[in-house]
Amino acid sequence: MAPRIPAAVGERLAKLAASGGDVADLAAFVAIPSVSAQPPHAPDVRRSAEFLRDRLRKAGLTAEIWETQGHPSVYAEWLGAAGGEAAPTILIYGHHDVQPPEPLEQWGTPPFTASVRDGRLYGRGVVDDKGQVYCHVLALEALLQETGRLPCNVKLIVEGEEEVGSAHFDALIEKKKERLRADAVLVSDTPMLDRDHPSICYGLRGLAYLEIEVAGPDHDLHSGGYGGGVANPGTALAEILASLHDKRGRVAVAGFYDDVVRMPGRERKAIAKLPFDEAGWLKTVGAPAAVGEQGWTTLERLWGRPTCDVMGVMSGYTGPGAKTILPSRALAKISCRLVPDQDPGKVASLLQAHVRKVAPAGVRVDVRVLHGGKPWRAEPRHRVFKAAARALEAAFGKPTVFIREGGSIPFVRTIADILQVPCLLVGFGLPDENAHAPNEWLDLSNFRKGTLACVGLYAEVAACIRKSPPKPAE
Ligand SMILES: [Zn+2]
Repeated sequence: MAPRIPAAVGERLAKLAASGGDVADLAAFVAIPSVSAQPPHAPDVRRSAEFLRDRLRKAGLTAEIWETQGHPSVYAEWLGAAGGEAAPTILIYGHHDVQPPEPLEQWGTPPFTASVRDGRLYGRGVVDDKGQVYCHVLALEALLQETGRLPCNVKLIVEGEEEVGSAHFDALIEKKKERLRADAVLVSDTPMLDRDHPSICYGLRGLAYLEIEVAGPDHDLHSGGYGGGVANPGTALAEILASLHDKRGRVAVAGFYDDVVRMPGRERKAIAKLPFDEAGWLKTVGAPAAVGEQGWTTLERLWGRPTCDVMGVMSGYTGPGAKTILPSRALAKISCRLVPDQDPGKVASLLQAHVRKVAPAGVRVDVRVLHGGKPWRAEPRHRVFKAAARALEAAFGKPTVFIREGGSIPFVRTIADILQVPCLLVGFGLPDENAHAPNEWLDLSNFRKGTLACVGLYAEVAACIRKSPPKPAE
């Protein structure tokens, strides 16, 4: 048992795991279909917030619902640490909403009935993010019930709109920032590198999402009667999309890379040393080859380089057989994943200017910005990261690795900017656990090690903060 984990707490969690009580407990949470994207499920998202609030109260924290203009968040706290307000405070983040379960026919067992098969728990939200929230719930409960206290003050914010872009969450955070004050933030919503490596994520990409509409004639035309007489929006859009990259896979939009902070050599060396199984990764992807911007490895491209990708294209007739029409319009969805210090608003403007410049004659183009989020990166050499790595190593019995993540968690950048404290992204999911897809699953041994790791994390991070107040994160 790791020195930071009280024996009684370790025993309690071991007993809970042996009886399956932890899984039954989580199953009740999973049973609530808190699908934030689908309006008919709005009452369920509220129900899951209430369930979690009550569960956190049972664990020994004070808890309440925080309303937003959209789905509600849950806030809980325990502020009884020795030293009171002067004691270190950790803010934990997670989300209780889930992705839609469709297509239902591809699930082996019903998505909202958590089922155990071969050491895995299946169900929507088991890993993203209800199971990871539960690691904290069970860890906090075990500490409070067995020792009557936590090693530091703990605040917990669990949002209800993460899967739909956190539209109202920034406003909530801004309004509640005094209540949320903390010395470090702990987020459990990212995957581990692989089963053998507990991981701390120190970087997330941002996002700029746009829609390009190309309009030609005001209605579809007979391609025999009119083809060759006017510009074809489908062809024009293809020309625009083809202009987005050069032959070396670089984004060919003027100014796109101006604010990109180049990955330092030491970071590239560290990434090269990670035990990344590229062949295995490619197998799970199912593509013939790993391809992208030249001069960078696959992990570097996924974590530290920006992209400009087509998400969808629509134009003309796409049904069976042949239909001879010249389409009146064409539409493409474009997503740019951003890295520090790119700004989503600026990138969107650059894209708009580029499309206007390259659009061929005879069509009208409209580029609409749908949404955006800023990238984030912390300094992994900060002592708080080292402290967290120790706690993970103790719980997993394996060395901790430092990774970045190609996706986005809007909350992280927001809270990092507001609180100016280190954010630790410590997740217990695996990359192939089908988050967002049918048959989402959670490795039960990671669920349990993750819970144990949380117990150690609170203590290690608190001790580290107490020794010397952390400098602001990058
Ligand atoms: Zn998530």
